[in-house]
Amino acid sequence: MEKLAILGGTPVRNTPIYYGRQMIDQKDIDSVVEILKSDFLTCGPAIQALEEKIKHIVDSPYAVAVSNGTDALHTAVFGLGLSEGDEVITTPLTFAATANAILYQDGIPVFADVCADTYNISAESIRKKITPQTKGIIAVDYTGQPADYNALHSICEEFNLWLVEDAAHAIGSSYEDKKVGSIADATTFSFHPVKTVTSGEGGAITCRDEPIYERMMLFRTHGITRNMKQMKHPSDDPWYYEQLLLGYNDRLSDIQAALLISQLDKLDLFSSRRREIATQYRQAFQNLNTLTLQTELIMAKTTPHLFVIQLNLENLRATRREIYDALAAENIYCNVHYIPVYYHPYYESLGYTRGQCPTAEYLYERVLSIPLYPMMTDQDVEDVITAIYKVLCYYRK
Ligand SMILES: *Cc1c(COP(=O)(O)O)cnc(C)c1O
Repeated sequence: MEKLAILGGTPVRNTPIYYGRQMIDQKDIDSVVEILKSDFLTCGPAIQALEEKIKHIVDSPYAVAVSNGTDALHTAVFGLGLSEGDEVITTPLTFAATANAILYQDGIPVFADVCADTYNISAESIRKKITPQTKGIIAVDYTGQPADYNALHSICEEFNLWLVEDAAHAIGSSYEDKKVGSIADATTFSFHPVKTVTSGEGGAITCRDEPIYERMMLFRTHGITRNMKQMKHPSDDPWYYEQLLLGYNDRLSDIQAALLISQLDKLDLFSSRRREIATQYRQAFQNLNTLTLQTELIMAKTTPHLFVIQLNLENLRATRREIYDALAAENIYCNVHYIPVYYHPYYESLGYTRGQCPTAEYLYERVLSIPLYPMMTDQDVEDVITAIYKVLCYYRK
């Protein structure tokens, strides 16, 4: 057996590789430079062009571009409506922003557990958490794989709830031939550099209902309208506008929009390379008894944003931290997605306690996100596989 780098052996590779990374080419750069030389750095035509492109790509009648994925969630929750004390059910296995969006609108996040095989929110657990105060559900397409939308839709219909899909991981995925972005009442995207396509910072919401779209458009720009049809005191004075509700400045700039338009041209390319790498990982790891892979839904076609391995700690002589460190010494840097949201001290201060979602907590102890991004070379993929074999075989019981 080869000596692990952490024990003084030679690392699998000499340069570090991280769990995610953006891909920017000359077309992206040219696209941004063109905007820098144009008349509009913000509030210009690139935003509308971007929204048209998103609508087309995800098959949705309405799209709103915003500053980031967190604003997208906040805007979606505002658009669909939430009053103080309303409850919204969501997953703890997500970035804190998903639940924070509920708090921003004075709602109460209620955490339902995840499925042990897909790691997505469990419909069965949701049913147990519904109360007369429940107003909606925010599902997350963890790693890019769509949640169980058939089950979620029937729950929403039965209890008259709205459904937000946090698709920060899932642009390019589909569920039963429906594109992610056309499934829920509102779908939110993030374009942070670790996500599948990027604008540096950026986000968007898609929806199919015009009044909700109008509310979200107002919310993005302070609640201000220049549309006479929406005004309380209509006036055609050229300087006149009205603030109708309390919104924010959640705008994306044209510089960012130009980058994202160019990135979206490569979405199919990125998706197929991501799928290819994920397939190689699955084939390589399927027979290892030291890890378990996320179950793939038959009815979904996923563009994987993350590749998560679940360590079978009972078959290992090492902790997850020791495995993480051993892989890092081989120059393979993993990450962990996610710390259950209610573990955070802020949520503790609101009265949330541990133990409420045992499956999510169990997974949190065992998962590692291994490198996955389209720029990985075949050699990079091979190095990751080699390092995982090297480390897990060394620590196998
Ligand atoms: C990245 C992410 C967000 C937040 O997006 P930002 O653009 O970083 O604000 C929300 N939810 C999930 C699941 C994410 O991965």
